[in-house]
Amino acid sequence: MSDDCLFCRIVAGDIPADKVLENDHVIAFRDIAPKAPTHVLVVPRLHVPNVAELAATDAALLAHMAAAAQQIADQECDGEFRWIFNTGAKAGQSVFHVHGHVLGGGELGWEPA
Ligand code: 5GP
Ligand code: ZN
Repeated sequence: MSDDCLFCRIVAGDIPADKVLENDHVIAFRDIAPKAPTHVLVVPRLHVPNVAELAATDAALLAHMAAAAQQIADQECDGEFRWIFNTGAKAGQSVFHVHGHVLGGGELGWEPA
């Protein structure tokens, strides 16, 4: 838990979020600025800065994130979804607590949302 991390504060319940799923490993909540009809962020409870570090240190937790993403897509978009991990500021990462963007619920073009 890091006091200056937005997603740690959401995990801790200090900042409200529109949650769609939560279990022992992850929480998932709607992005505040949605880019698709379904735009949910899947966030591990553990603070890890990015997906590569998570894969290297806790691959099972990454698998829990994937399972959560599929569950959300099953609930909201016929099981079909795009999963994006912005990694690094130049790639658009603005919160350095790993999160997968689950996008779906419409015809998604190839251009990243
Ligand atoms: P990144 O740019 O790091 O890949 O994704 C961060 C995402 O968090 C952005 O899509 C942004 O809209 C979203 N976001 C930023 N602040 C908040 C917030 O306070 N609540 C929620 N639900 N989403 C947020
Ligand atoms: Zn954090």
